[in-house]
Order: sequence, then structure tokens, then C-alpha cells
Amino acid sequence: MTTESVAAEAGRDFIRDIVQADLTSGKHKEVVTRFPPEPNGYLHIGHAKSIALNFGIAQEFGGRCHLRFDDTNPTKEEQEYIDSIQADVRWLGYDWGTDLYYASDYFDRLYDWAEGLIQAGHAYVDDQSQEEIRVRRGTLTEPGKNSPFRDRTVEESLDLFRRMKAGEFPNGARVLRARIDMAAGNINLRDPVLYRILHAHHPRTGDKWSIYPSYDYAHGQSDAIEGITHSICTLEFEDHRPLYEWLLDKLPVPSKPRQYEFARLNLTYTLLSKRVLTQLVRDGHVSGWDDPRMPTIAGLKRRGVPPAAVREFVKRIGVAKANSVVDVGMLEFCIREFLNKTSQRRMAVLRPLKVVIENYPEGQTEELEAVNHPDDPAAGSRKVSFGRELFIERDDFMESPPKKFFRLSPGSEVRLRYAYFIKCTGVIKDAAGEVVELRCSYDPATKGGNAPDGRKVKATMHWLSATQSVPAEIRVYKQLFQNPNPSAANFAADLNPESLKILSDARIEPSVAADGSSDVMQFERQGYFVRDRDSTPGKPVFNRTIGLRDTFAKEVGGKA
Ligand code: ATP
Ligand code: MG
Repeated sequence: MTTESVAAEAGRDFIRDIVQADLTSGKHKEVVTRFPPEPNGYLHIGHAKSIALNFGIAQEFGGRCHLRFDDTNPTKEEQEYIDSIQADVRWLGYDWGTDLYYASDYFDRLYDWAEGLIQAGHAYVDDQSQEEIRVRRGTLTEPGKNSPFRDRTVEESLDLFRRMKAGEFPNGARVLRARIDMAAGNINLRDPVLYRILHAHHPRTGDKWSIYPSYDYAHGQSDAIEGITHSICTLEFEDHRPLYEWLLDKLPVPSKPRQYEFARLNLTYTLLSKRVLTQLVRDGHVSGWDDPRMPTIAGLKRRGVPPAAVREFVKRIGVAKANSVVDVGMLEFCIREFLNKTSQRRMAVLRPLKVVIENYPEGQTEELEAVNHPDDPAAGSRKVSFGRELFIERDDFMESPPKKFFRLSPGSEVRLRYAYFIKCTGVIKDAAGEVVELRCSYDPATKGGNAPDGRKVKATMHWLSATQSVPAEIRVYKQLFQNPNPSAANFAADLNPESLKILSDARIEPSVAADGSSDVMQFERQGYFVRDRDSTPGKPVFNRTIGLRDTFAKEVGGKA
């Protein structure tokens, strides 16, 4: 296949069009992209969009994609995040090969280049406090004011910068700033900070540095050092591009990458800010970064979401230049669609109600054939045990049903999937009046689920043998936020109090309990489920990945 047809098959967008044009025109012989996370948290579904774009382009056009950690802020960065980011990118199905880099690898070069800027008169050391700098920066309508230190000599700035590096000054005492234009319409050009003093231990460079480059200074130069051809980032950096280009122009960089901006992913009912996600974890609103309610890659994985569904979702939403909010239902659709094809069917009873089949011989059991996938005969079948005592879903019975309730009620007949027709003949209640057991009869002539006389029933229900099933805990998740557009500033107020329901008396097929795999299964009529790592030999734990239908609007009270 030509590169063009490969790209077309993978879906076109304005960035891929640019890459294609640059290869066709010979501007670039090879495309080099990068994914540049800051290791200050776990990756989320928004990052997946950026990962799929950068790694996807490299794959489709036969180029390379670097994984580069933008580790310029040691106070917020940790090895745990570096490790999780690598695991998550791999899980999504992407590979950086040998191209793993750290902005901190370039600290020496960045420092030398900064001295060069001072010597050329393009940078100066400013003694103002952060607050003074902020106040003098001006606004969108008002120009900034020059720092009183802006005109200090090259020699003085160089001497102070070297002493900043040597650790002579406390945090915040001075900064190195680019000398550009305090009246520039673009605030990013009003003498931006290039270096700040920070006496902090760095996971990779240890205690070597007491100054660290700003993100804006390190980022573009890291791209240039690595020979990135297309530096792809989200729209909020569009206004920073003139600064990056100013720096590329002034510094002896080996290449001049061009930056392209695309719209970041926003999802309804979801917050994708690392600050918020960090706080959710720290304040205990969730059990950790991989809590299945989190929009993190680790959370999606633990929830049972297949990486292929995430890739499909990212492909469907496309890459655009205007910000928008994607309906979380779209992600759920992709998950459901994929799992419907790939998941084996099993039976589980989430909220069990005991049923005694009074005309079924005591002590007898039989093994009935159950198909593993209705559309895939190759998936085969398995045996499920039927006996006198069964469990059905509590919701599948109503003592006084409304007109349209077709499941089990006194006197009604239903089909037990793969088994028999049963009829409810009696209801047993506890002292509080709660139904605790049903008495039923079965029709032996309906084995396999069809009546020889052709009579029909309106409902088919799942069930399990009371003696030949196994207890399990099932965790049912709903959206973490109950507001379609949760507030990042006051997110605690928008948390959904019903986002986790633990069903601790559930029952599952013995083979499901014995299956230690992380394969997602469909529990018939209930949804898709995956074994959780909290499982113990005595008590398997399952997460509901997603329900069978989009009942979501109902679940959150119709606010959607
Ligand atoms: P924060 O959440 O604090 O804004 P961040 O998400 O920008 O941080 P980075 O580690 O800098 O964190 O992100 C790495 C890359 O992922 C960047 O190139 C960024 O543009 C991209 N990215 C981050 N969030 C999204 C998103 N929601 N949609 C698409 N790309 C994103
Ligand atoms: Mg960022």
C-alpha cells in the first residue's frame, strides 16, 4: 500500500493532510512526532487522543514517535507516574521502540543555550518577585511595564544566572527572562520566564540543579533537539507558538519543528484535568488512580474497557481545530460494540431470589447446554447445572405486577434460558413482608426452552442453580459526576453519590469463578463484567464494565 492509501484507511484529518503534503513535497523525508507527558499524574482518555494521533501518524506514514517525559517540575513529578505512563501507552497498543527521552536529558544544553541568550542580549536576570512580575505583565487590553532590572548589563545577568545555578539564592529570589517586548499584544511574548530557582530533588538529575527551565523554554527546544518534524499539541498552546518560534530563531538549534494545534478532548460527565484527578485520589473520593470510575487509562483498563474500543472511539471523534464536548455515550457505544462481538456469555444473578421447583425431584441435578456466543458458533457451548433450588434475579419477580410486566409473577409462566418453562405457584415472605422465596413448578416437556404444544411465553430469564453456583461480589459503576458539565473548580459538589454500588450477595457460574483471566464476559441481560484484582480465592470480585443498553440518562435522573 502507498502511504496515502494507508492514511486514508485510517481516517483523514487536517494534521494528516499536512504530514502527507510535507512528505509529498519532500519538505520532510520522514515524519517524527512525539507524545510529551509531564509525569505529574496518570494518563487519561484525553491523553489517549493525543497518543493515538502522534503514534498513529508515525505508524501510518512509516515514521517514528518519541515518548518524551517533560520532567521540568520536580516538585510535582514522581517515578510512579513515569512507570504508569509507559504501561498505559503500551496498553493502548503503541510502541516508542528505543525513542524514550526526558527533557531532563537536555538540561545541560538548555542551560548553555540560556547563557547564549544572555550574551546576545536576549535574556536578563530579574530580581522581582513572582507577584511583582505578574502585576507588571499587564492585561489583554493594557501593555505590561518593563522590569527595573530589564536593562542590567550582560555581565551582571550572566554572573547572577551562574550564581542561581550554583544554588546561591533561595527559591523565588530571581528568574531568567527572555527580553522580547513588554507591550506585545500576545502576553506570552512579554518577557516570559525561562528559568526559575527551585531547590528540589529531581527523580533523574538528583540534586544537580537548583534552577529549572520553564515548560515554555524546555518544550520547543526538546522538540528541536529530537528533530521532531510535526510538533502536535492542544489548542491552548496556539498563543505560545510565537514564543517557541522566537526561541528557535535565536538559538543554535539543530532543527526547527513546526507546531500544529488540535482541539483537546472534553467529555460530558467527565473532568480531564490532572489537578482535579489528583485531588479525587488524594481526598479519597475514589479508591485510587485506577478506580474504575476514573477517566484514566488505568481506570478504564481495570474497568474492563478493551484498548481497541478506546482506539475506535478516538478514531470516530476525529481531530478538529475547534473545541467541543463529546458525549460520553459515544465512548460507551464503542465499548459495547466491541465487547458484544468478543465477549463470551455467562449467567450471573446480581440480586438473588431463591426459587424452589416443587415438582422437580429432590436431590436431582442435570447439565444443560448453554451457548457461549449467539453469533459465533466457534465459541462453543458449556454446561450449566439445573436443580430443584435455583436463584433468579429479584427484579424479575413482582407480586402485583403492572400491566406491562411480563416476567415472573404469581400464576405467570416464563422461560428459564437454556432450561424449562416455569410457573410461579407460591410466594414466601419474612416477618417484615418481604418476599424471600418463590415456589414454582416446571414443565418437563419444555426442556431446552420450547414447548412442544407451541405455547409461548413473553419473557426469558437468566438463573443459576442454588447449589451449583458460587458467591461473588459485583461492583456496578455509574458516572462519577452527576452533572453533564461538572465544575472543575467545585467538583466535589457535582459528584454522583450513586457512582458505585456493591452487590455482595451475587452468584456466578462456577466456571466464571474459576476463570482467573482478565477477559471480559457478558453476564446475560446484565452487561459486561471483568474480574477485579481485589478477588480472593473465596470471593471473586467483578466490575461491571458497562451495561447492555444505554440506560444512562435514566440512571442519572434524566439530566442527560
Ligand atoms: P493538565 O491536565 O494539567 O492540563 P495535561 O493534560 O496538559 O495537563 P500533559 O502531560 O502536559 O498534561 O499532556 C501531555 C500531552 O497530552 C500534551 O501534548 C497535551 O496537549 C495532551 N493532552 C492533554 N489533555 C488532553 C486532552 N484532553 N485531549 C487531547 N490531548 C490532551
Ligand atoms: Mg500540559
